[in-house]
Amino acid sequence: MLGAHEVLSEMSITRREFSRLGALALAAQAFPSVSGVAQGADRRVGYCVIGLGRIANHFLRGVAESSTSKITGLVSGHRGKAERIAQQYGVPKSSIYSYEEMDRFRDNKSIDAVYVALPNSMHAEYTIRSAKAGKHVLCEKPMSVAVSEAEAMIAACKANNVKLMIAYRLHYEPITLKTIKMIRDGAIGTVQAFDSSNGFNIAPGEWRSTKALGGGGPLMDVGIYSLNAARYLTGEEPERFTAVASTIDHDGRFNDVEENLSWTMRFPSGAVASCSTTYGAPMPGYYKVFGSKGWLEVASFGYQGQHLRASYSPGGRGTPATTVDETNPEQDPMHFVRQADHFSRCILENQTPDTPGEEGLRDMQHIQSIYRAAGISMG
Ligand code: NAD
Repeated sequence: MLGAHEVLSEMSITRREFSRLGALALAAQAFPSVSGVAQGADRRVGYCVIGLGRIANHFLRGVAESSTSKITGLVSGHRGKAERIAQQYGVPKSSIYSYEEMDRFRDNKSIDAVYVALPNSMHAEYTIRSAKAGKHVLCEKPMSVAVSEAEAMIAACKANNVKLMIAYRLHYEPITLKTIKMIRDGAIGTVQAFDSSNGFNIAPGEWRSTKALGGGGPLMDVGIYSLNAARYLTGEEPERFTAVASTIDHDGRFNDVEENLSWTMRFPSGAVASCSTTYGAPMPGYYKVFGSKGWLEVASFGYQGQHLRASYSPGGRGTPATTVDETNPEQDPMHFVRQADHFSRCILENQTPDTPGEEGLRDMQHIQSIYRAAGISMG
């Protein structure tokens, strides 16, 4: 879950200011010597990107704007594509690896950490291989496709004394942080109910709709945003689940995984959540939280433009309402700058990330409970 310092420190300054201040603070202090981080003038954390697909492109552009991080290696099955990207980001050809020979990067001192941007079912293998090579791991969501894999990833990183962070970029996004703080501060009163959706109409032939690579359907891929939001907003872990799944379109896209899934969760406080996800329709991501003093909603789990609206009565029922209408003006790839900055600072200052492996594991455990409730077997 979010660390309190993240919630408080990032609220009142812009990302660029925060990044610049962070870089100055980093430069001003003597870093503790952390295993794997190059010593000398340039102490930016060097990342090797594993898998050069769509999300990797956002990350590469984000790191290029970061003052704490740089790209120092690439792992790809396509040498030509990797060489083009290497040239663009100043990575030497000698730091390009195929999937088979990746383990050789153990001896590459310019690589401190990896970013695992592969299909879901490959996260566990590449996280564990990277940990064994002594590299810190930033792994995309969903952390894995099985609870046991997530546990093995955490154990491998601990055994090899490297850090593990799951790339929940919204935990580092200002509107999300503001929303969490408003709820924690009691602005909308006691949280009673949470409502969220996130989905899209998937193209044929995507690895995402195969169980072998996706591990499941839209719940694994995009429903996880609603699940994770319900957890960071309530600050609680759900304890009871109901779920239903269906497939309407028998056009070959859903031979392996569900097309639609809706589920409910009850939290220990009594707060209830109702969520839907789909691979069969455009379903813009949003959440709405209803409290005893009012409500708030945030539109979009996307890469930019998070928009918060709220209306609540600080004096309670029947008293005048306060309203909020605010958008994060930052553009893509700022989520990725913030995310890389956070992990790099954790590596440089020997801190635990705000979204460690255990955060990913909890989502995997809850995804398993949701699938069970829907009568779908996971893994
Ligand atoms: P993508 O298909 O665009 O990229 C996947 C990459 O993996 C490609 O470079 C592909 O060549 C490589 N690959 C290696 N072996 C493969 C195989 N056997 N089959 C298919 N591809 C293989 O996918 P993506 O959208 O970049 O998603 C990658 C990961 O990032 C997923 O886990 C996804 O859930 C996650 N993701 C996160 C976000 C976010 O906002 N945090 C957004 C999108 C995707």
